[in-house]
Amino acid sequence: MFPFTSLDDFKIDIPEEVEILRKTVREFVETKLVPRLSEIEKTGDIPEDLLKEAAKAGFTGIGIPPEYGGQGGSFLEMVVLQEELSRASLAFAASIGVSGLFTIPVLLFGTEEQKRRYLPHIASGEKFAAHANTEPGAGSDVAGIQSTAKKVDGGYVLNGRKIFITGAGKADYFIVSTRTSPPPSRRERWKGITIFIIERGFQGLRIGQRFNVIGLRGEQPYEVILDNVFVPEENVVGQVDEGFKILVTTYDYARISVAAQAVGLAQAAFEKALNYSLQRQAFERPIISFQGISFKLAEMLSKLVAARLLTYWAASRATKGGEEFIFASSIAKMYATEVAEEIALMSIKIHGGVGLDEEYGVTRYLRDALVTEIYEGTGEIQRLTTIRMLLKKVFGIDLAFM
Ligand SMILES: Cc1cc2nc3c(=O)[nH]c(=O)nc-3n(C[C@H](O)[C@H](O)[C@H](O)COP(=O)(O)OP(=O)(O)OC[C@H]3O[C@@H](n4cnc5c(N)ncnc54)[C@H](O)[C@@H]3O)c2cc1C
Repeated sequence: MFPFTSLDDFKIDIPEEVEILRKTVREFVETKLVPRLSEIEKTGDIPEDLLKEAAKAGFTGIGIPPEYGGQGGSFLEMVVLQEELSRASLAFAASIGVSGLFTIPVLLFGTEEQKRRYLPHIASGEKFAAHANTEPGAGSDVAGIQSTAKKVDGGYVLNGRKIFITGAGKADYFIVSTRTSPPPSRRERWKGITIFIIERGFQGLRIGQRFNVIGLRGEQPYEVILDNVFVPEENVVGQVDEGFKILVTTYDYARISVAAQAVGLAQAAFEKALNYSLQRQAFERPIISFQGISFKLAEMLSKLVAARLLTYWAASRATKGGEEFIFASSIAKMYATEVAEEIALMSIKIHGGVGLDEEYGVTRYLRDALVTEIYEGTGEIQRLTTIRMLLKKVFGIDLAFM
């Protein structure tokens, strides 16, 4: 049981409404999303009418409480939504899911005014949001950001450059991290960061180049440039100079959705491999009759189930509260994304030559699995978080300061 204390710590509670949601999303995927997949891959964009359909179905409001115009729902609902959408398209799932990187910090740390002003528009799907933290010189090292916010009368002036920002092309609202003070010391370099909400119309905010990353076709990320952007005081989220905590807390929760994305795409890669191995004949038999293939499928399925359980466990723990959920979310993200890569690769191999044909669509799972491994904290960062949590919980040691 170590480092947990009781069997209760491993309980996964899935209320009936989560299963109802799963079926609703599955139907949307099969009837509306699947017929548009090649269009998304070819144009590199998510069709607007499809996003409107998803909003109409209530998907953009999941995780946002009803008092702010949302559907409510726990992390389990968010996870199931992301998993089912990613089974068809990671890009589409990310397109809707990335708003969580805005809504989570606003819900946890924002003012009542900020919640009322921004969340209902996101919940209704009328507006989209993005989260701009990564910079050319800082990704995993969140405290290494160099964008600045200088105090002026009535607010702040922001300057800097953010890269790989998902959803920036269509976002109306942005969560942006900046430095408001230099780090007081090397040990406390996480201090001095402040989070702001920027609206698309703010002068000096520019959307730059789009990055041609190999995966996430349809929702590839953008550069965001801050050129003397004036942001009013009331758009500071949480406390000035205390933004690091907001960022890492946001990622602690949001990475469960990335684990779910990995589970969804791994499920699709597995299903394709299974169907193909039943249909494909070699040496006058379906290839599934060869042990070399059937053992691979059994291994893929076991890893897929384990990844799904870890992900639901993390979502269940996050819903319950308490900082131990961070263990679960890091382990789930690390495991599910790495297993998705393995399953996607195995699926390509089971497909033989057609597995390498882009038109056939199996390579997409591998390209997308690689994205899930990197964004919202790489596997190395998840390992670090897991060990840091362990040392903190069991021995009271803070590894960050060693
Ligand atoms: C498709 C895509 C979408 C993205 N969307 C967003 C977004 O919406 N918003 C946003 O802010 N960012 C976004 N990102 C950025 C993403 O979060 C970062 O790329 C990621 O966190 C890794 O940071 P990095 O690229 O700077 O790599 P680095 O931090 O430079 O890492 C390079 C390598 O070193 C390893 N490494 C770093 N530090 C350690 C350590 N302490 N111990 C062991 N290994 C270490 C890493 O694991 C990695 O293998 C996106 C990225 C991609 C590819």
